[in-house]
Amino acid sequence: MTNSSLPALQIVLPVFNEEETIPKLLLRLDAVKEKLKDAAVVSYLFVNDGSSDGTRATLESLATKRTDLRLVNLLHNFGHTAAIVCGLDHFQGDICVVMDADLQDPPEVIPEMFEAWKRGEKTVVAERKSRREKTQLMFKTFYFFFHKFARTVPPISFGTHCLLDKTIVQRLRGLSEKNRYFPGLVAYGSGSIFPVQVDRHERKDGSSRVGYFGLVNLAVTAFISFSSTPIRLVSILGLTSATVGMTAGFVIVAVKLFTTQAIPGWASMMTVLSVGFGMQLLCLGIIGEYIARIYDEVKNRPLYYAEKESTR
Ligand code: UDP
Ligand code: MG
Repeated sequence: MTNSSLPALQIVLPVFNEEETIPKLLLRLDAVKEKLKDAAVVSYLFVNDGSSDGTRATLESLATKRTDLRLVNLLHNFGHTAAIVCGLDHFQGDICVVMDADLQDPPEVIPEMFEAWKRGEKTVVAERKSRREKTQLMFKTFYFFFHKFARTVPPISFGTHCLLDKTIVQRLRGLSEKNRYFPGLVAYGSGSIFPVQVDRHERKDGSSRVGYFGLVNLAVTAFISFSSTPIRLVSILGLTSATVGMTAGFVIVAVKLFTTQAIPGWASMMTVLSVGFGMQLLCLGIIGEYIARIYDEVKNRPLYYAEKESTR
């Protein structure tokens, strides 16, 4: 708790090139702050993830004017998840709200999350009951398979917009892994998870800063860190193709030995060979994804470097 008897609620916002959105975002955040003024002391913690536009200057100027706004600048762009991790490391308060700064996560849901916290919930997540994005099919496919195979699963359709009690933040700070799937780790570090429903709108300004490649990379990280299925699939594929190959071999020899015919087939041979070859490469690729991530863990590089925090 702060000096005031009200709980301190700090909103952690990773930002990368959001210069145009920040004024609109702050207007909406301030409206939420006003709504909660008798219930919580609300403040903002922006993590500028190496923006190359005017984001840094805008936030620095705000941080010198406002006591309720802190800014941490990262040395360069480390990615969305690393920026959130930095936000959690620098968080001060009783309640932490994590949300994107592009207004796809509606700030207006924070009072409802806060009410749930007051009732004793330690982890409250925004579940997207609708999403108006072009990547919907991609997300649905991911969630379908992830929820089938992962050991620890967050509620379906939870991104990173959530409220965490400081005890949960403390737990997440204790993690040392480098390849992180944030929603999965929130689920891992939480007991019960209370979902609140939100509508997710399309990004108004520009295109996704994370991008398709970033999303695919995150999906692979999610599978690798929360499920052994991909690597098991390699063994299953290997076993299946070996069985098919051996059976075909027996059939070919038997036909040759016990009949007057021989199985003709350059085409069939090539098909089997190329399918087998493709499968081997696929398996090598899957193993490669694991090795790349193990290599990251072994290197043990810090997830981010932050500059000295801007203070008033
Ligand atoms: N972001 C960041 N670093 C990055 C990419 C994005 O801090 O390298 C921020 C971005 O400014 C936004 C949030 O993370 O506040 C989510 O990014 P984006 O909207 O691009 O992700 P999407 O909604 O497409 O998943
Ligand atoms: Mg977004």
